[in-house]
Amino acid sequence: MPYTIEKVKELVREYPGFPSEGILFRDIFPIFHHPEAVECLINHFVELIKALNKQVDVIVGLDARGFLFGPLIAIKLGVSFVPVRKRGKLPGQLVSVTYMKEYGPDVFEMQADGIKAGQNVVIVDDLLATGGSCKAAEDLVAQMKGNVILNTFVISLVGLEGDKKLKAPVYALIKC
Ligand code: AMP
Repeated sequence: MPYTIEKVKELVREYPGFPSEGILFRDIFPIFHHPEAVECLINHFVELIKALNKQVDVIVGLDARGFLFGPLIAIKLGVSFVPVRKRGKLPGQLVSVTYMKEYGPDVFEMQADGIKAGQNVVIVDDLLATGGSCKAAEDLVAQMKGNVILNTFVISLVGLEGDKKLKAPVYALIKC
């Protein structure tokens, strides 16, 4: 069955109280039960990025659900994909940044040869909450002298105003 982007949105499931009391978890995995829904979602992001009318060199995906979308978008655009990972997962020469999570500091890392000075980057993740993770990713790209031209999410929790922490514009398919 061909999917419209409105039908894709309906596949996101909500789990109150997961992983802890007071959190409403938004689960994007049901989209991946339907290959045509994935295709529709990826095409949506690809068209959005093409419509920027700017050269895009690198898609950066955030650990871990950004890895589901990022490489698929990068393949369709014919550009490279670079992961941002939590500390201790990547080999080789790294750049790193410490950022604040709910219960204390965490570290994000990226391989130092992933982005060259002056390259244009689009950051991809499943969900924007406080914006702490995406801000850390923007900082990593800046350390490598790349330019983030857009941050893209499937979902944005607009009440948390995560976009205000970010330098580059934000696009979210679902705003709630
Ligand atoms: P933040 O750094 O606060 O913007 O949090 C964003 C990261 O945490 C993303 O990588 C999400 O996967 C995850 N996350 C935060 N809140 C939720 C939520 N309510 N449902 C699903 N994932 C979430």
